[in-house]
Order: sequence, then C-alpha cells, then structure tokens
Amino acid sequence: MSPMFVPGPVDVAPEVLAAQAKPMIPHRSKDFEEMFRRNEERLRTVFYTQNRVYQATASGSGLQEAGIRNFVQESVLSCVNGAFAKRWYEAAVTNGKQADQLEVPWGQAVLPDMLADALKKKHYEAVTIVHNETSTGVQNPVKELAAVVHEVSPDTLIMVDAVSSLSGAKIEMDAWGLDFLLTSSQKCLALPPGMSFGSPSERAMKKAETVANRGWYFDLLRMEKHRVKDSTPMTPAMALVYALDVQLDRILAEGLENRFARHSAMAKRTQDWAIAHDMQPLASEGYRSQTVSTIQNGRNMDIAALNKFLMEHGMRIANGYGDLKNKTFRIAHMGEIQMKDVDTLLALMEEFLKAM
Ligand SMILES: *Cc1c(COP(=O)(O)O)cnc(C)c1O
Repeated sequence: MSPMFVPGPVDVAPEVLAAQAKPMIPHRSKDFEEMFRRNEERLRTVFYTQNRVYQATASGSGLQEAGIRNFVQESVLSCVNGAFAKRWYEAAVTNGKQADQLEVPWGQAVLPDMLADALKKKHYEAVTIVHNETSTGVQNPVKELAAVVHEVSPDTLIMVDAVSSLSGAKIEMDAWGLDFLLTSSQKCLALPPGMSFGSPSERAMKKAETVANRGWYFDLLRMEKHRVKDSTPMTPAMALVYALDVQLDRILAEGLENRFARHSAMAKRTQDWAIAHDMQPLASEGYRSQTVSTIQNGRNMDIAALNKFLMEHGMRIANGYGDLKNKTFRIAHMGEIQMKDVDTLLALMEEFLKAM
C-alpha cells in the first residue's frame, strides 16, 4: 500500500486493520473489561498522565463538545487561530455557553502574552486551546500558554485539543497542568476513525459535579461510574477497541521518544525541502507543526494536477483548508508514515516541479 499524506483519516497498519475482524464479544464480559483496562493503562502513558483516560465512541469533535458540557457552566474563552479551534468555539456557543474568542490570524500562533491579556480583562471558567491546528500547520505553545493561565487565573480550567498531534509531539498533561486533553483515533494514533480519547484532571471532574445539563451521552460522571468497572455506559465501538489494543502495543514498542523524533525529523525534512524550493511554511519558525506541514504555494503549483500525478504513484497530499485552498497545500507526515515515504514523495514533487 502506498502512503497517504493527508491529515486524517491516515493509513492504518495491516495488523491493526486485521484486528477489527475478530469476533465480537459482549462488553459486559471479563475479556472485554481486561482489554479496556489494558488500553486505558497504556493510554495514560501516551497522555503522560496518572489521570483517567476515557475511550469514547465518537470522533474528536464529540469530546470537544464533552469538554464544554462537563467543565463549563457559563463562560469560556476559545483561542481561535484556525478551523478546528473555531469549531470548539462554535461547540460552546451552540451549547448555550457565553463564549468569547481570542482571535489570532490564521497561520500565526496563540502567544502567552495575548492569553494573559485576555484573562486579565475577564474571568473565565475555562479556556480552549488547539495544540496542533491542522488547518494551518501551526503548533501552539501549549506548555507556555498553560503556564500563564496558572499564573494569571489559577482556577480557570485548561482544555486542549491534541487531535492531530498526540503521540507525534510530546504533550505532558500532568507536568504542564492541563485539565482536559483529547485526541481522535484517526490522526496521529493511526487507527481507523470512530473513537476518541480524553483525559480530565481531578479538579476538572470535581468541577463537572457542579455543572448542570451535562447531557447523557457525554456526561463524564456517568462514564466514570462505568470506567471504574472497566466498561462504558453504552455499547462501545468493539472493532475499534480491538484495533486500539494492537496499535498501543505498536506505539509503545516504537517508544514515545522515538516516535516524537521520527515525526520531528519528517517535519524538518519536508519544511527544509519546501524552503529550498522557494516555498515557505505558513507558520513561522518555532511554531511549525511536527505532524502536518502547511506550505505556501509560492511556485503556483496546480494542486489538483499535482495530486493527480501523485495518485498515479498511489500517493496523495491535502490541499489548503478553506480560504487557504490552492494558496497553501498540506503534507501530513503522521502515524505510520516513515522518512523513506517522505523522501519518495518529495522526489515525486521535485519531478512535478521540473515538468511545470
Ligand atoms: C480533525 C480534527 C478535529 C476533528 O476531529 P474529528 O475526529 O474529525 O471529529 C479537531 N481538532 C483538530 C485539531 C483536528 O485536526
């Protein structure tokens, strides 16, 4: 199979795909409970946390909504510098919360001073931050952002979406003092779509007890009652739980530090190549994503034609997101992608450029 350089759903390893074909078992059974517990234990390692990690049957947007419904009664500040950050803001608004935006131009990072200023002006119960904005290839400095929240507004909860970066870039939930960290199955974790994983801090769970109208499906207090018995309130996505069991072994066998290094090396190779070919990354240095390089289309390539050419070789990249379509293109190098795949892709792009 040839690699896809799109930011989700990404390629899934054959043995992980095959794991989904195992016969179903009841989710109220010892075998399931053991697998579910095993998965949570290893997810804690991947999240760098001692806290609980929920395994939800929903894509990552579901857990964005869960964060809003469980941890915010009224007021939330959303840091918005791209499409997925905007989605989280919209989740807050459509759930009836008083949401404000800290708006930063697409392609730029949210900086600690900006957040500190906003928090000095008004008190918020929570802030939402996207770690790796997949629409722009910007990696926000979450560690530093969390530090200013702790300093300026210590009781404000810090919610972080790491959908396209968790396991590809180091995010230390406990050490950085994050209150809710979430990710999806189909991006950096390289699983099929349909699950997401979210870890709340102890104080976030305490807060949830005071929040009204948490709903039913995403009520984390209800999920907690079942989690302590290694199960879920509703039927879990069994086939995906099997796949997760196999994939977590593969991720930990590679080693998290090795995995971060592989992603960062692939990002550097891709971004260096682009710069050497007169195409600048959209994000400035220091804020460039390790998992998805977003490059300004400075050579005016016909992205549709480029993809047609790449697909003759079984590969594809992603066009720019929304208004950035054709002005930028995105090369996702996450999950199962290896450096040799990146080299093959860049050689093909080189060929395409020469023929232009
Ligand atoms: C893809 C993505 C989402 C949405 O996740 P789904 O699993 O598609 O719901 C949210 N945030 C970021 C940063 C993403 O890349």
